[in-house]
Amino acid sequence: MPIVNRELIEKLPKTDLHCHLDGSMRVSTILSLAESYKIRLPADNEDDLKKIIVMEKGCSSLVDYLKVFDVTLLVLQTDEALERAAFELAEDAAKENVRYLEVRFAPILHTNSLLPFEKIFESVISGLVRAEKRYKIKTGLLVCGMRNFPYEISHMARRLHDRLYTFTDKELSLQLALHTAKVTTKLSQQYPTIVGFDIAGPENGYPAKDFYEAFQEIINGHVSITIHAGEAYGPESIEQAVKYCHAHRIGHGTRLIEAKDDSKLRTLYTYFKDKRIPIEICLTSNVQTGTVPSLEKHPIKNFLEDKLRCTICTDNRLVSNTTVTDEYMRLIETFNISKEELYKLIIYGFESTFLPYEEKEAILNEVEPILKRELLAK
Ligand SMILES: [Zn+2]
Repeated sequence: MPIVNRELIEKLPKTDLHCHLDGSMRVSTILSLAESYKIRLPADNEDDLKKIIVMEKGCSSLVDYLKVFDVTLLVLQTDEALERAAFELAEDAAKENVRYLEVRFAPILHTNSLLPFEKIFESVISGLVRAEKRYKIKTGLLVCGMRNFPYEISHMARRLHDRLYTFTDKELSLQLALHTAKVTTKLSQQYPTIVGFDIAGPENGYPAKDFYEAFQEIINGHVSITIHAGEAYGPESIEQAVKYCHAHRIGHGTRLIEAKDDSKLRTLYTYFKDKRIPIEICLTSNVQTGTVPSLEKHPIKNFLEDKLRCTICTDNRLVSNTTVTDEYMRLIETFNISKEELYKLIIYGFESTFLPYEEKEAILNEVEPILKRELLAK
């Protein structure tokens, strides 16, 4: 018997701090947008499309997992589509009592209809704000630069490639990330929904420290930073993210466990504990990308026992076929988690948001008594 049932998990106020817009759409919406825009998808009905997009059994690597996004990106190229996808994602999260959601997306992947770059940000913000007005949910937007050069799927990337033909793909991807960072800092002054910056895409061969300039731009603009690291690459990528790019949180961070018994990197492990750097844990996605061989082998339990600050996230609700409730249930059913640990995990989520201090405090004051009553009362 699990320590708590699904009904209670669903009812509890929760956060999701690592959730990709293009990996968390509804299948029905992908089909409906494709029909409106006369876009050919690899399948024309929900069941067949799900077989292509949803990673039921997992795939061989992060690179394979990322290929699925080419399908959802086909339909996410207009302001209406972006607004709708953002609204529906926040709506789905609100319906399972996610009280605070941070959605991330890479604007550069949504340039194929030649929308002005800033309009791409604004469309997603508009969908999130619309959901906030209708549901009891607060949202934040994390803007991603891309580690690789998205030549096949981004019009802006192709145009740049044609014009700056003396640049290598690597140099171009650094320029695109820098441009994205500049627009992020500029728009963050105007839109409080923009709370952070990240770099996404394949880790191997694209170290975070190469994007130093983009992160410097973000640091100068006083915007928060989270970085995908320690998923497809070892603890060195996590070290770079905190040391060179000043990450306030780490996306995945799974392979930080390898630092624990490494004579050179052991202090990185304790640094995470001492500085209370949050780790955005995505259990299902980590199994599907082969980051861990099985759910049982995920280091979450070690992290909790070692008092690291972890928060449970979905990564991609559609591609990983999951919800925040599902992630908590998998955690509870697989590991010997106590109610106290569960309480801490949920609170860590609220403590790790990129919200301004007063707003974070207000939500914490609201959810703490509920969580105490439901999980800690004897
Ligand atoms: Zn991710």
